[in-house]
Amino acid sequence: MTRVILHSDINNFYASVECLYNPALRSMPVAVGGDPELRHGIVLAKNNIAKKYGIKTGEALWQAKRRCPDLVFVPPHYDRYIRFSRMVREIYADYTDKIEPFGLDESWLDVTGSLVSQDGKVIADKIRERIKFELGITASVGVSYNKIFAKLGSDMHKPDATTTITVADFKDKVWPLPVRELLYVGSSASRKLAGYGIHTIGALARTEPRLLKNWLGINGVMLWQFANGMDISPVSNDSYPIKSIGNSTTTPRDLVSYEDVKITIYMLAESVASRLRENGFICRTVQLYVRDNKLVSFERQAKLPEPSCVSDTIAHASMRLFDLNVNEPFAVRSLGVRACDLAPADCRQLSFLPDSERLQKKEELEKAVDSIRNRFGHFAIQRGIMLTDRNLSSLNPRDDHSIQQIAFLR
Ligand SMILES: [Mg+2]
Repeated sequence: MTRVILHSDINNFYASVECLYNPALRSMPVAVGGDPELRHGIVLAKNNIAKKYGIKTGEALWQAKRRCPDLVFVPPHYDRYIRFSRMVREIYADYTDKIEPFGLDESWLDVTGSLVSQDGKVIADKIRERIKFELGITASVGVSYNKIFAKLGSDMHKPDATTTITVADFKDKVWPLPVRELLYVGSSASRKLAGYGIHTIGALARTEPRLLKNWLGINGVMLWQFANGMDISPVSNDSYPIKSIGNSTTTPRDLVSYEDVKITIYMLAESVASRLRENGFICRTVQLYVRDNKLVSFERQAKLPEPSCVSDTIAHASMRLFDLNVNEPFAVRSLGVRACDLAPADCRQLSFLPDSERLQKKEELEKAVDSIRNRFGHFAIQRGIMLTDRNLSSLNPRDDHSIQQIAFLR
């Protein structure tokens, strides 16, 4: 039986909610972000007028202000966004109980067999109408037979529109799109694919899955399935499609000192953290896997004091797990670091955390490192500790090691 899946995305969510609370903002370019007096604040969201000035989410507030001197800054009010998110969900709940949130402003809905209508578009239009009428904000909704295409549909027409993608027309509508638009194609995968001349979703769909597996590992096969509309993952009420992100490595020599272990853990933590950021996740739990030269292995995990996507935090937690569980002398052959208990990064109320300024700075710093590595390669920038043992730190975990992503494939 063909499923009917909706993906609903509230247009300019934070900025739209702020404009409701202060209608005078409607006619002005608005950016939601931290205190512009603090140099490190970034644009979290913007309205359509600010968009016309070229203001981008994630850019520094002072940069945005330079591009658009009239730009009005509004500090984020997460309590308001959470409340609106809940009210939107109550509307969805009139059509199905299968609702999977993705951040505060997006959700998948499985409306197969809904009693309201058999036609997904009818339900999508009704939901948009009610969100606009009852809450005063707008949504774009994609309707398709799988989650991946429904998500693509909600991106195709904005604001306040319904887009359908069917088995019959997905090749016309989806295949011409840039491959980067497919969910879970990150910057590193799209760069690799571009290297093989694959620029569109259609080109990805027509590539031999065997080749994709060689280039991207098992994720390559997953992306090929997505491009061909073969995503069978269910809309689940409480979980995210990626359950954890981990990296492990067998080291070029046995690790015999805490310093050896630290180098390797930092290398793995950097890779894990950068993939968390790339996918817009934070983790609440860190797991460490250790195997020694007698092939005895164990796994331990710890909850983080605050959810994070910063490699320092993940490395510290892993190192502490190692200290607590391994005594000298040791000879470790294999290490793995995994981020578990994931949540979308934007559901975190960063500004309320006691240490938020320092954490945000660290995150910004690591994002800058990500972008340098994206442009110039992994080894263009290294931590000082990596230089203490070139042999151990010569691995590029992102490219060389197994990526264990519990994903859509079941
Ligand atoms: Mg949105």
